[in-house]
Amino acid sequence: MGRLKDKVAIVTGGARGIGAATCEMLAREGAAVGVTDLHDEEGAAVVERIRTAGGTARYWHLDVAEEQEVQRVFNEVADEFGRLNVVVNNAGISGINKPTDEITVEEWEQVIAINVRGVFLCTKHGVKHLRNAGGGSIVNLSSIYGIVGAPDLPPYHASKGAVRLMTKTDALLYAKEGIRVNSVHPGYIWTPLVEALGRESPQGVEAFRRELDEKHPIGHVGEPEDIAAGIVYLASDEAKFVTGSELVIDGGYTAR
Ligand code: NAP
Repeated sequence: MGRLKDKVAIVTGGARGIGAATCEMLAREGAAVGVTDLHDEEGAAVVERIRTAGGTARYWHLDVAEEQEVQRVFNEVADEFGRLNVVVNNAGISGINKPTDEITVEEWEQVIAINVRGVFLCTKHGVKHLRNAGGGSIVNLSSIYGIVGAPDLPPYHASKGAVRLMTKTDALLYAKEGIRVNSVHPGYIWTPLVEALGRESPQGVEAFRRELDEKHPIGHVGEPEDIAAGIVYLASDEAKFVTGSELVIDGGYTAR
C-alpha cells in the first residue's frame, strides 16, 4: 500500500483486461488514476470499483489514435489531479489474423494506427506533463510477440516489435530529464482480447485456452494482475534506476 502515494497516472485502454487491473492496482497503491478507453460504461465501472475501495479515479473517453483527443484528455487529466507522473500505454488490438500475403493495407494500417501511433501520440503529449512534474514513468505494453515470432498476427508482431524499440529510444532521449521509459512483455493473459482470438479459432475457446496453457512452461496462461504488478513496479520509485528495460512476464514462454 502507498507505493504510488501522491502520483497521478493515466492508463489507456483501462476499461478491460490488463488495463482495468492496472488502474485498480495503481489506485490501491495510492495513485490518482485517469482511466481512459473507448468503452465508456466499463470504464465508468472501473472508476466506481476504485472509488468504492477508497481510491481516486475519473474516466475519460479516449481513442489513442486521434491526436487532438489525446492532447485534450492528457491536459484534462493533469488539470483535474494537478499533475501527471505516470503514463501507461496499454491500449492495443490484436488485429487481423491472416497470413501476410492475404492482408490488405487497410487491415495492416488499423493495427499500426492503434498499437504504434497510439503509443507515439500518448508519449508525445505525455512528456510535457511529466517534465512539468520534474520527471516520471512511461510504461509501454509490448508483448512476447515483440521479442519472438509466431506464425500468426503479422501486423501485431510488427507493432509490438516497434513498441519495444520506441521504448528504448525514448528512454535514451528523456533519461536526463528523469523520465523513465520501459516496456512490458506479457505472455498470453486471459483477457477479452485473447478470449476473442479463442472465439475466432477453429478449435473453439476451451481447446484454444488449453493449447495456450501448454505453450507456457509454467503450465497455464497468466492473469491481468500478473502484468499489473509489473506495471506498478515500473511506475513506482522502486524502479528509479530502471529505464530502457524489457520486463518479461510470460510464464517462461520466451525462456526456451
Ligand atoms: P483488451 O482486453 O482488449 O483491453 C484493451 C482495451 O483497449 C479494450 O477496452 C480495447 O477496446 C481498448 N482499445 C482498443 N483500441 C483502442 C483505441 N484506439 N483507443 C483506446 N482504447 C482502445 O486487451 P488486453 O489483453 O488487456 O491487452 C492490453 C495490452 O496488453 C495490449 O496492448 C495488448 O497488445 C498487450 N498484450 C496483451 C496480451 C494478452 O495475452 N492479453 C499479451 C501481450 C501483450 P476493444 O476491446 O474494443 O478493442
